[in-house]
Amino acid sequence: MSRLTVLSGPSGVGKRTVITELRRSRPDIWVSVSCTTRTPRPGEVEGVDYYFVDRDRFAKMVDAGELLEHAEFAGNLYGTPRQAVLDHVADGIPTILEIELAGARQVRRSMPEARFVFLAPPSIEVLVQRLEGRGTESANAIAARLEHARSELAAEDEFEEVIVNNDVQQAAGELAALITEEA
Ligand code: 5GP
Repeated sequence: MSRLTVLSGPSGVGKRTVITELRRSRPDIWVSVSCTTRTPRPGEVEGVDYYFVDRDRFAKMVDAGELLEHAEFAGNLYGTPRQAVLDHVADGIPTILEIELAGARQVRRSMPEARFVFLAPPSIEVLVQRLEGRGTESANAIAARLEHARSELAAEDEFEEVIVNNDVQQAAGELAALITEEA
């Protein structure tokens, strides 16, 4: 048995980049592959980045209890296949989920023994800048994003561990150290 790690945090904080870096330095850590209804981005590989499924298939997986958690994000559904996570944990393989906040809350309810890690931005300004993109949005849209970012940042208090994403390599190193720690 090993302890499951859940990495979560606000959208735009760089969870995926930190996970990619972690994978490079620690191939012994298994990163769960989620299902999603969103369409693949260029370069994304089925079964590696995600399992790309349609809404009908996703609903069937939910009904059959095959997902450990699931949530809607930006109009698409995302979920973690349960069995693969349980199998890797049972085999003693360090296992990590990279999911948004609503999903992390569900995992806390079903697997409270997991390690919950919040990836935080260096500041709310940095997060909002990253979300704003090229500055083509209206003041209203930016205000809405700021509001959303504030509520996501407030979730930090729910997490036992916080890593600040100042530098991707450093954040990935801190995450690796946490995962390697005795439970
Ligand atoms: P993206 O579409 O950019 O790959 O992911 C969008 C958001 O969905 C990210 O915040 C990512 O962490 C989250 N996400 C990816 N897979 C899952 C999952 O299985 N469950 C949940 N709840 N969120 C996920």
